[in-house]
Parts: sequence; C-alpha cells; structure tokens
Amino acid sequence: MTIIGGGASGVLLAAHLLRDPASDIRVTLLERRGQFGQGVAYSASQRDHKVNVPARGMSAFGDDPDHFWRWLQARNYPSPTGSWVFVPRRLYGVYLEHVLEEAACLRPGRLIVHAEEAVAVRQSEAGVETVLDNGTSIVSRHAVLAVGHETQPARGRGIAVRIGSERDTPLDPDVPVMILGSGLSMVDTWLSLAQIEHRGPILVVSRNGFLPKGHHDVPALPIDAADVPFGTNLPYFMGWFRALIAETEARGGDWRSVIDGLRPFNQRIWQSWTEHTRRQALRHLRPWWNIHRHRLPPEQHERLSAAVADGQVELIAAEFVGIERHGAGVRATIRPRGSQERQAVDVARVYDCGGVTVDVETSSNPVIRDLIAKDAGRPDPLHIGLDVDENCFVIAGDGKVSRHLLAVGPLTRGRFFEIEAVPDIRKQCADMARHILDA
Ligand SMILES: Cc1cc2nc3c(=O)[nH]c(=O)nc-3n(C[C@H](O)[C@H](O)[C@H](O)COP(=O)(O)OP(=O)(O)OC[C@H]3O[C@@H](n4cnc5c(N)ncnc54)[C@H](O)[C@@H]3O)c2cc1C
Repeated sequence: MTIIGGGASGVLLAAHLLRDPASDIRVTLLERRGQFGQGVAYSASQRDHKVNVPARGMSAFGDDPDHFWRWLQARNYPSPTGSWVFVPRRLYGVYLEHVLEEAACLRPGRLIVHAEEAVAVRQSEAGVETVLDNGTSIVSRHAVLAVGHETQPARGRGIAVRIGSERDTPLDPDVPVMILGSGLSMVDTWLSLAQIEHRGPILVVSRNGFLPKGHHDVPALPIDAADVPFGTNLPYFMGWFRALIAETEARGGDWRSVIDGLRPFNQRIWQSWTEHTRRQALRHLRPWWNIHRHRLPPEQHERLSAAVADGQVELIAAEFVGIERHGAGVRATIRPRGSQERQAVDVARVYDCGGVTVDVETSSNPVIRDLIAKDAGRPDPLHIGLDVDENCFVIAGDGKVSRHLLAVGPLTRGRFFEIEAVPDIRKQCADMARHILDA
C-alpha cells in the first residue's frame, strides 16, 4: 500500500493498517514536506493556535478514546479540566508523529517513509504505480490519496496574503487591516495579529458576519437513528432539527448537545439527501452549520468576543467583490449584505481566510491535476472534492470505479461531507484499513 500525503489522514491510515499484528501489509508513506503528522492544521507554530476539539475527542483510535489523553498525561501536560482541554495544534502534530513511530516499532520493517512528492499515479490490472517528483516510482497493490487540503486560496489571489507567509512583511501596528472570512482560519489570523501586538482596527468581512460559537462541556444528546428524518427535503429537516433544539433548551439543556448528538448520523443524513437538497444545504445551511459545529475553545471565544465588544475587531456582513493595490496599501471592494451599492474600503493589508479552492478541476496538486487530466478521476457532482464510492475507491471520468486507487480525508467530502475533523477521519481510516486487510 502506498499512501500519498503524510498529514493527519495519511498517518492515521498507516497506523490503522499496521495495527493488526496478523497482517502482512507493507506501507509506504510519502510526504512532500518531510514532516509527518503535521499537514496544514498541525504545523501551526503559535501556542495560541489550538485544536478545536477537546483532547478526549482527538485520539488516533476510536476504540481507544483515551490514547491521546494518556500521551498528554505521560508528558505531565497541565490540565485542571482533565481531558476537556484544547492543546496547541503543534503538540497534536507531535502526537501524530509518535503514533507513526509506535506503528513502525510495532511492525518492524513494514513501514517505509519518504520525504517525496508524488506527481502522478498510473493504474493497471495488478495495482498502482506512484510516480515521484525525483523521477522514480513505487509499485503497490493499492494507493491512497491522502493529499488533504488545497493550499491555493479561492479568491483575492496575488494581493490578499496569508498571515505568516513571506509576503506578510512587517506592518505599522496601528494601521487598519482586513480579514476575508470569519471562520477558524480568521481566528488563527486574529490571534497571530494579537501576538505581534497589532493595535489598528481589524475589519472581518464575511457574507453573513457570523462568528464561530464557543465550546461548553456538555454531554451529547442521545439520539435514536429511528428518530432522525433521513431523506427528507431541507425545510422539513430543519424544522425537525430546530424543534429538537427548542425542546432540549426548554428542558434546561444546551443546543451544543443536539449538534454533538447528531454527529454520528451526519454522513448518513448527507447521503440520504438528493443532489438538489445537498446543493441547497451547501448554500443556505453551511454558514450556520459551520459556526455551531466547528466551535472555539472557550477562552478563545471569550477573548474574541471582548475584541469585538471593544471595537478592535469589526464584523462586516458583506460580499467580497475584489481588491486592487492602492498606494502603499490595498483597496477592497465589498457589497454590504442587503445592499446593491458597492463600497470601497482602504486598508494596509488584506488577509485571506476565505477558504481554499475545493474544485479538483483547478487543483494545484500535481497528482490530482494529472488524475483529472487523464480522466482517471473526476469531481463529485457538487465539485467539493474527488468522486469516490462508499468504500472510498476513486471513480474515473467514465464512471468506472477503480479497484486499486482510493482517497481519504477532506478530499472525499462530496460523498461524506462531515470528513474534516480527526474523529471522522480516524473512523474512515479504520473502516478503510479493515476493508483493505480483509480483501
Ligand atoms: C487551520 C486548520 C485547523 C484545524 N484544526 C482542527 C482541529 O483542531 N481538530 C480537528 O479535528 N480538525 C481540525 N482541522 C481539520 C483538518 O482538516 C484535519 O484534522 C486534518 O488535519 C486533515 O488532514 P489531512 O492529512 O487530510 O490534510 P492536510 O493537513 O492537508 O495534509 C495533507 C498532507 O499531504 C501532503 N501532500 C499533499 N500532496 C502531496 C503529494 N502530491 N505528494 C506528497 N505529499 C503530499 C501535504 O504536504 C500535507 O502534509 C483543521 C483544519 C485546518 C485547515
């Protein structure tokens, strides 16, 4: 088995494949950055960049939920709230590296890692040849695309910058800046600006002007599958969901319990919907869903709310229209929500946190580009990832399901939707490992 990509998904899959002492599988893991287990999320260097799932939910193994927490305790990680703690993301990357090392020690000689980039995959009747950037190739029975998040921004290209990137040169701390997007990446950017003691106004522009909600330590509501309305239209589903929240709150409960209680069913709900309903959900439900589902550690939520209350962070509900250079700074054009009028806003810098490209047809990743160009893969119907079947085998342009090439993690969001966070990815990896080893 060759795994292309050594971020969280690639490492979790390798660990799950090597866990069974009876299997004779050999795994080759390729990672172009040379750092295993980090990927986009867990390479964050700042201590303030925390995981957004408490430690008790971040074990590499669903059937050993305390694995991560035990690892933290063995390192005397201070936590007055026990396993309900949000650790720096970089530390989680170190844990994943440890998970990989543990897997390698458990099965000596069965894991090979290469700091190389895969540029193409060629499939045959017998298996897959993975072609590397250095001109060599690796042949295996199966290959898995664990290439994760696209790194290319979806908009504001060329002028908007990423915080901490080479183009993010030092700024006067009193100048106004704009952040596009108001999700968790915006929070990372705001924390980085706070770290360098930026004092100027921070204008946060997003379509709805929503901020992510904060976590509370509340139990998930037990929900019976028989009570979940699968396969309905969106208004009916939302009516049921809102009523369940109202009922829970009327009993003194918390809406978070309902969101968390529904989580085991999210993939089934998504898959039970028609393409039309999924499209509607992406357009109308997703912004609301994201702020309730992907929540902030409580202390970060309090800090951010205080920054909004004292005016340093200003939330603007507006559509982003475009940007151009203006003198030494940038002129951004936005259209405030509910208005037809465009408005020009001059700031010193625009930070791009407005999401990344998810359409694989415009991927910057060579292996995905090659797959699409050769028609050996295609976007899912909503163009939010790569089309795969229920077992994660890649579907070619002509609809034929591959017998040897698979994908894991965020790339499979068209079929699974809820496949961004570790608890969902580790389950996908465990299921895939079982399927491959059984075969
Ligand atoms: C900023 C941020 C914070 C997050 N925080 C959390 C959190 O706190 N908790 C949580 O559960 N989830 C979090 N997530 C969700 C996150 O999607 C997953 O937890 C997980 O990190 C996804 O890992 P991945 O390996 O699929 O993707 P990535 O992290 O994108 O890793 C993919 C890896 O593949 C490598 N690669 C790509 N192409 C090639 C190639 N052609 N050849 C070789 N190597 C290649 C890349 O270098 C990269 O290291 C966060 C996401 C982001 C973006």
